[in-house]
Amino acid sequence: MMTVRLKLTLWYSAVVSLTLIAFSFILYTFLSYSMVQEIDRELAGRAVGVVRSIKVVGPNWFRQQQIVLPDVDVFGYPNTYLQVVDPYGRLVAKSSNLSNQTLPLSEDTLKLGVTGQSFYEWLQVGGQRIRTYNYPLMAEHRVVGLLQVGQPFSGIQAALNRLKWLLWLLSGLMILAAGSIGWWLARTALRPVEEITKTAALIRQELNLHQRIAWEGPNDELGRLSATLNGMLDSLEAAYRELEESHAAQRRFVADVSHELKTPLTTIRGNIDLLRKMGDEHPAIRQEALADIASEAERMSRLVSDMLVLARADAGLTLSLQPLPVVQILQQVGRQAKILAGQINFKIDIDERCKDTYIMADPDYVKQLLLILLDNAFKFTPPAGTVELSVACGGDRVQVLVKDTGMGIDPGELNRIFERFYRSDKSRPVGGTGLGLSIAKWIAEQHRAEISVESELKKGSVFKVTFPVLKQMHE
Ligand code: ADP
Repeated sequence: MMTVRLKLTLWYSAVVSLTLIAFSFILYTFLSYSMVQEIDRELAGRAVGVVRSIKVVGPNWFRQQQIVLPDVDVFGYPNTYLQVVDPYGRLVAKSSNLSNQTLPLSEDTLKLGVTGQSFYEWLQVGGQRIRTYNYPLMAEHRVVGLLQVGQPFSGIQAALNRLKWLLWLLSGLMILAAGSIGWWLARTALRPVEEITKTAALIRQELNLHQRIAWEGPNDELGRLSATLNGMLDSLEAAYRELEESHAAQRRFVADVSHELKTPLTTIRGNIDLLRKMGDEHPAIRQEALADIASEAERMSRLVSDMLVLARADAGLTLSLQPLPVVQILQQVGRQAKILAGQINFKIDIDERCKDTYIMADPDYVKQLLLILLDNAFKFTPPAGTVELSVACGGDRVQVLVKDTGMGIDPGELNRIFERFYRSDKSRPVGGTGLGLSIAKWIAEQHRAEISVESELKKGSVFKVTFPVLKQMHE
């Protein structure tokens, strides 16, 4: 297959060759034509000069007529041959430079001459090419002779031939030069393409998406091509990294899930063994084992339902949001929280300004989000402590706070508690799946809400969720 480089070079050379050959041809033709023209003009001039000095004498009938030739010097032009013949082709006179030669006279020439026409002709004399002008001599409207004026063309022909060879040589050299320059130009122009191809091949070979095409040239077509390819690689790399990350997260999730499910299953199996062995004789042990089994089963079902929510989230579930009055949601959540509070002092504080404030929300999920926060607050707060649910409205935000006076969170763990399955070691005895806050975070994201936490160890924590306001209905 022909490379672009070869094609470009061939095209370039072909165009240069054609141009040169056409130029040479035109130059040569024009030059030789004007040379002949020049000679013709000179020959005609000479003929007129000679004719003026020729006299024809004698009576009217032409047999007796005589051509009287002028002085010899008229015939004495160097390099110009002159010859006069009578109407029968007999030589009357010739210039001395012809010496023993004569200008050949064909029958056709004589025939045409005696009709009174003047014309040019090419002759061959002793290996020399000669241009001649045949000029009829007239007397009393009769042709009485024919003047032949000739000039050798060989010198000019030789010069023209030399020119022809020079043109061929120069054209050949220039075509060669054009070919080489074209080859070099094509390489230079195509080198970036080579670079791009090489980089692309490298990327494919090593599956290395960090690689970029190094382009230092101007922002021309190739510059833009490089930039576009680099941009494509950026997106590819980003997409690939995202995929890798989600894949890793998925693997971690599966590993965590198996681990989390294994613990309760082990406990349940252990308790079943215990029941089989001693359940009949020891009712107390049986009660304990059954209670254990029940609580582990409950934990497992909580775990499974939490995982289901996250699995749906991962599958791209989007919530269907609708305008909801803030006060109504908060009151419903508050009622449910009261049941969970147990011995903990639970307070709810709804800002007056929240009356008639709406947010775009999925009611079930918003409630779930707030209950996760409240459940944690109750879990991690000792019985005498306080948990407060408050909501403040104003501007274009609705801010919900869940404040507790519990154990607090280690500053080093603040970022990690939103991760799946992350549970602080201190909170392990309390129980939980470690999935609550990751669900809360997902629900917040779905509502374009921001969730954040501030906490101080042994003092308590504040979880803050900020929703964008849909509209203040009373304004
Ligand atoms: P779970 O509560 O089921 O363990 P979460 O994802 O809801 O899982 O919480 C993750 C971890 O964050 C908890 O295990 C706990 O260590 C910490 N945490 C969450 N809320 C609080 C809180 N109000 N006070 C103290 N620690 C908390």
